[in-house]
Amino acid sequence: MTKIDLHMHTTASDGEYSPSEVVRLAQDHNLEVIAITDHDTVAGIREARSAAYGTNLSVIAGIELGCENATRDVHLLGYAFDIDNEHLQQKLDELHEHRKYRAARIVENLNELGIPVQYELVQDIAGDGVIARPHIAQALVQLGMVASYQEAFDNYLGNHCPAYVPRLRLSPHEGIDLIHQAGGVAVVAHPCRYEDPLGVVREFAAQGVDGIEVYYPDNSPQLRQQLLQIAQELDLMVTGGCDFHRRAEDGQFGLGTEHIPHEVIAEILRRAKRYHG
Ligand code: AMP
Ligand code: MN
Ligand code: MN
Ligand code: MN
Repeated sequence: MTKIDLHMHTTASDGEYSPSEVVRLAQDHNLEVIAITDHDTVAGIREARSAAYGTNLSVIAGIELGCENATRDVHLLGYAFDIDNEHLQQKLDELHEHRKYRAARIVENLNELGIPVQYELVQDIAGDGVIARPHIAQALVQLGMVASYQEAFDNYLGNHCPAYVPRLRLSPHEGIDLIHQAGGVAVVAHPCRYEDPLGVVREFAAQGVDGIEVYYPDNSPQLRQQLLQIAQELDLMVTGGCDFHRRAEDGQFGLGTEHIPHEVIAEILRRAKRYHG
């Protein structure tokens, strides 16, 4: 059986391990096909591919984009696209600039709340990676302003918390189109996270999405059943992955724990061909 995991993060966004380290961890977990799906960036993929070169691990190009319409914040995964696509690079550069601006505003909010964190520290922690809230959470832990990473989110950084600032998001159509024009397939990420998962799938399918992330740790058995059904009805493909960011506090990595049918890989490549210019 081919062991597959198509959703994970590296230090190129908010993961704890570098792309090479993630490749090594994937190998330790006997994985044979992975996709690196960092938030708004493809910067980790080349390093991951070099690290996997000559081994029996393949690395599929991936990305995770934040999209939203009037009512929903939905994550979109992209697979098997050209990582050098110019329009994609341009759009990602814009998103990165906006993230810096937004992180600085979150820092201002924290300062107003009496938390003396500086933007420079957050930037240092993010390093070359795309700045995201977990870097700010880490800064608060380092400064001793919170006892844990989770406390930083619960008290300050979470979506309904006082320091939160939303970030620029693409419309569903923009996100899907960005991936398609780069020659890849677009997939609705972690349906369990949305209030109305099937509604989200229908809406995104109407916008041209290619697939659904059915094999995801927090998708309940019942939801998986419903998703498989709707996938068949709407002719969508199914994918899966564990959304690995860091080792959990209980020591578990949570990498490669989903049983993903090996046909998924051929289907991604077959569907992606539709979008090759
Ligand atoms: P950003 O892209 O900067 O909005 O940061 C989003 C990331 O922050 C997510 O991908 C998670 O890794 C993390 N995150 C968001 N909300 C929470 C939360 N309530 N608890 C823990 N981590 C969170
Ligand atoms: Mn994340
Ligand atoms: Mn996500
Ligand atoms: Mn993710």
